[in-house]
Amino acid sequence: MATPEREKFYECEVKRRRVKLGGGYEPFWKVKLIAEALVDEDTEFRCKDCGGPVKLYRRYIKNAPPPHLEHKLKSDSEHCCAGLHFLKATDGRAARMSSAPVR
Ligand SMILES: [Zn+2]
Repeated sequence: MATPEREKFYECEVKRRRVKLGGGYEPFWKVKLIAEALVDEDTEFRCKDCGGPVKLYRRYIKNAPPPHLEHKLKSDSEHCCAGLHFLKATDGRAARMSSAPVR
């Protein structure tokens, strides 16, 4: 049996902080390569297309894909414009944002 196809994203949004006008800090999301985010030790991630929670595969394993992300929720994968299940769907469904977006 063939290995089932897995989602692999190499880009994500990471939560960063920036200086706010008038003082203090405010969080914002920045698109980044996973490899870069790992080097920078970012800890909060989300899908850059639907804003949904993602699972991070950070280890380098021989014969396995390099660090990457998958949607945590199957429903996100089914409706995110970059989702594996969405891209495979043949019912002409419309892409939408995550039902449980990370803020
Ligand atoms: Zn997504």
